[in-house]
Amino acid sequence: MKYSAYAMPNLPTPGNCVTINPDICTGCCRCVEVCIMDVLIPNPEKKGPPIILYPDECYYDGCCVEECRESGAITLNHPLMQRVRWKRKDTGEHFRV
Ligand code: SF4
Ligand code: SF4
Repeated sequence: MKYSAYAMPNLPTPGNCVTINPDICTGCCRCVEVCIMDVLIPNPEKKGPPIILYPDECYYDGCCVEECRESGAITLNHPLMQRVRWKRKDTGEHFRV
């Protein structure tokens, strides 16, 4: 008997933990292998960028970005509430990292 396995992204998930630039990504899957939360899975198409399957499981350790050898291929998107923000007293300017 033949069985098939399917990976279905959770489409309603609002999280966008990482962004992968398909023009730079080589599909090496180093980021997939290093992610202990299994947020990413390999693309079934050879050399395709990994698929972000479970973005809500990400805890933003950044290992995928650190492991990637192609500069700019993958970037981390910290949730707004986790970003540092400060205000310059004299001018009132707001800054966010
Ligand atoms: S490690 Fe970088 S180049 Fe390799 S698949 Fe991940 S994002 Fe693409
Ligand atoms: S930041 Fe960490 S948990 Fe999130 S996708 Fe990258 S390696 Fe996985």
